[in-house]
Amino acid sequence: MTQATHLLIVGPPGAGKGTQAGKIAERYGVPAISTGDIFRENIKNQTPLGKQVAAIIERGELVPDEITNAIVADRIALDDAQQGFLLDGYPRTVDQVHALDKTLEPAGGQLDAVVLLEADTEEVVQRLLKRAVEQGRADDTEEVIRHRQNVYAAETAPLIELFKERGILVAVDGLGTIDEVAERIAAALKEKLGR
Ligand code: ADP
Repeated sequence: MTQATHLLIVGPPGAGKGTQAGKIAERYGVPAISTGDIFRENIKNQTPLGKQVAAIIERGELVPDEITNAIVADRIALDDAQQGFLLDGYPRTVDQVHALDKTLEPAGGQLDAVVLLEADTEEVVQRLLKRAVEQGRADDTEEVIRHRQNVYAAETAPLIELFKERGILVAVDGLGTIDEVAERIAAALKEKLGR
């Protein structure tokens, strides 16, 4: 059996995670799983989950861990994730890290590498304000964008130290063109994973 590849991309809202996630996933032949995309899809289709989380997301708050953990556990149990996955936007709290550890444990799996996409706060706020005009995401108003940056700093940034301690952190400068950043990530991941 070939070894499964479990990857994660983290970084502040607006750092370009979604775009890079697709490229990394393609390279390693695994699905890119974005909790934000799963939530938005459910909101669009007005599912029970969508109705439950719409107001939370619109305010830029985090969906409760219990809900998010259950959704990810279900998603990574699907066939296409058995050879691995690239997570985008999950885990983003300490509780979520522990939940993911528990989910992966029975099969002997664990996170192999965490790509940290680094970007300056003002730069990402400006990018998101631009995206607001282009895509009209409900949580892309300036007030909510700033709140999401604060939530990231408070809840998610502390995880970086944890991943560093585990020796799986790969920090990459997120400033530059999409292709430049993709090249940097590819090189850094290859060095870390040896594949
Ligand atoms: P961004 O990184 O720009 O904030 P995402 O698409 O990753 O965009 O997330 C959008 C929103 O979805 C978050 O602000 C939050 O409300 C919710 N969300 C996504 N992932 C999680 C998660 N792992 N835990 C809790 N809430 C989440």
